[in-house]
Amino acid sequence: MTVPTVSLIEGDGIGPEITAATVRAVEAAGSQLAWERVDAGAGAVARHGDPLPAATLASIQRTRLALKAPLATPSGGGYRSVNVTLRQHFDLYANVRPARTMAGVPSRFTGVDLVIVRENTEDLYAGIEHYVDPRRTAAESIAVITRFGSERVIVYAFEYARRHGRRKVTLVHKANILKMSNGLFLETGREVATRYPDIEFDDMIVDATAMKLVIAPERFDVIVTMNLFGDILSDLAAGLIGGLGVAPAANIGAAPTAPGAPADPSERACAMFEAVHGTAPDIAGKGIANPTGLMLSAAMLLEHVEQGEAAARLRAGIAAALASPETRTGDLGGRASTEQFTDAVIRAMVAGNA
Ligand code: NAD
Repeated sequence: MTVPTVSLIEGDGIGPEITAATVRAVEAAGSQLAWERVDAGAGAVARHGDPLPAATLASIQRTRLALKAPLATPSGGGYRSVNVTLRQHFDLYANVRPARTMAGVPSRFTGVDLVIVRENTEDLYAGIEHYVDPRRTAAESIAVITRFGSERVIVYAFEYARRHGRRKVTLVHKANILKMSNGLFLETGREVATRYPDIEFDDMIVDATAMKLVIAPERFDVIVTMNLFGDILSDLAAGLIGGLGVAPAANIGAAPTAPGAPADPSERACAMFEAVHGTAPDIAGKGIANPTGLMLSAAMLLEHVEQGEAAARLRAGIAAALASPETRTGDLGGRASTEQFTDAVIRAMVAGNA
């Protein structure tokens, strides 16, 4: 088996602490990965004068795989968000956010197990905006939806459903009002769905979806939607399972342009995995951060490189450590440090293997 190399970005704030914990747990899960440590974020500005050094881009370009801890982004002014730059540079068009309730993570619901696949490059976030008049009394933002962009993310959602044994894809839109842009997304979805007769397909208006998500979240399986609705609904879904602190994410890049072409590593789709939360500057350096979000992102990475057994072991270890009050971190009402939580994850994996 070839051992995949992962570009590892330790990030800012609690980043280095949760990265060290995650690497330890991933290795103990029996994974076969080689780490290539690269720099980005505020720390990289201090060390290299650049939040996204060329060596970091070159590493991801080569490995096509990244595990990234959170990066500090200055608000209003300062440098451009590294997260946005990475997304655009590698054309990471699908943002995948699973939301699953876990024993030990306080939430209002049980039995939530859904995945939101958000289109990551188009819609209102294409950044096409202008003031209508010189006095700036009115402004316009343009939502761009293309058949190409819609098709590739919807195909990704169906392929994801198939690969992960999921039964249904729900396409979320507002095509009753936005008849052309959202109508195009819906029409493309209906066409793509005919290629996947083994997966159930339905569609739902976004406002009705928001209500149904908080009334009966167990009704949903895979949701695919456009950028703006996906941004909002994926945080809503994280709220259903106890907040952003434990939520993982994947950003998936464009597939090779020539299907069936010889497997040239430089043509492989790029994929970047990250926790959803930020750098948590208020608790950085204290050794108390919860590494669950990054560990679950690493489990998604392992599945992506077809190391499903190691991913399953890691998930089981995390579940066991979360289930016990003594091994939970402070954000979840426990008293364990990052290291004690990680030790518990590893102990559970070792016990599971025995
Ligand atoms: P945040 O997620 O960093 O923190 C919000 C609250 O949640 C804080 O009280 C924090 O202590 C807590 N928290 C977050 N993660 C935790 C964890 N793993 N364990 C325990 N507690 C945790 O959000 P913020 O304060 O709005 O942002 C701080 C910085 O992070 C900003 O610079 C922002 O731009 C950046 N950020 C980066 C990313 C990313 O790189 N993907 C995402 C969001 C925010």
